[in-house]
Amino acid sequence: MLSEFEIIRRFFEQPARRPARGGRTPAGAVLGIGDDAALLRPSGDMELAVSTDLLVEGTHFRAGSAPRALGHKALAVNLSDLAAMGAAPRWATLAISLPSADEAWLREFAAGFFALAARFGVELVGGDTTRGPLCICVTIAGEVPAGLALLRGGAAPGDDIWVSGELGGAALALARPEYTEVAARLEQPEPRVELGERLRGIASAAIDVSDGLAGDLRHILERSRVGARVDYESIPRPAAFGRLGDPELEMRCVLAGGDDYELLFTAPQARRKELEALGAEIGLPLTRIGAIRLGDPSLMVFDAQGRPLPVTHGYDHFAA
Ligand code: ADP
Ligand code: MG
Repeated sequence: MLSEFEIIRRFFEQPARRPARGGRTPAGAVLGIGDDAALLRPSGDMELAVSTDLLVEGTHFRAGSAPRALGHKALAVNLSDLAAMGAAPRWATLAISLPSADEAWLREFAAGFFALAARFGVELVGGDTTRGPLCICVTIAGEVPAGLALLRGGAAPGDDIWVSGELGGAALALARPEYTEVAARLEQPEPRVELGERLRGIASAAIDVSDGLAGDLRHILERSRVGARVDYESIPRPAAFGRLGDPELEMRCVLAGGDDYELLFTAPQARRKELEALGAEIGLPLTRIGAIRLGDPSLMVFDAQGRPLPVTHGYDHFAA
């Protein structure tokens, strides 16, 4: 049986890594794993963006989930939060509790985690390892030039509402596992790190879609004290919905399905051309789905005939 310290040394303490092909250069902590705390030195004039996400077996992923996908996802959801702030990821810590020291499981988990870390130049600088129910907590720190972070509170009446990629795929994969073409949206979400950084100075507000479009857009509306109109038909969604033939499930997935980790953001109309060019440049479709309006933080969603649709809520762990 592996000891706690062997687990850390064998699976989480990485020799200095080269960036993955096309990836970023690792950030270089002053001091990483091995002491009582890591030492990090942010670059001059940068603010540190720090975020944490906890993944619990049975709540966030099914028991028996593939360890490589879990390693990827544990980091991806954190990278997505930094992307939504417009921050460049640099360092992460990993606190993990494991029912047993299963070497094959640990090898796969670490492979998924470090493959994604290498792509974005993230260095694992510390963590904690204990025995217990399977539970994974990653904390991430990144940098953003002072004053340029993308906040939820900056949306203004008249701004367009944009979304990257497609929505509803992860929820469809969860509801209908036989739709294997969307399985990767749930298991291997792609954090929109580059988009987030490029939106600095363009987007007026941003959030990542982790709990569903309606719920996450509401966070922007509440923070910005504005309302919104969204055109349901304009929301980009995977082609798989074309053969689903279940408009109600489709609507639930697209408006309230979580786990897509796309970026939802607002920007002044004057930035349209720039955003279209940006989407083309980074190879990620950016779609305008509605507009911010004056008024209370309410969200109106309209169908193709201009009729209002009932809007379902996002995911809430403590809702009845
Ligand atoms: P402490 O007793 O001070 O909490 P630990 O013995 O738990 O320290 O950890 C030893 C070192 O290994 C520390 O630098 C800690 O950050 C790191 N570490 C522990 N678990 C992990 C992990 N799962 N991933 C990365 N680093 C870890
Ligand atoms: Mg410890």
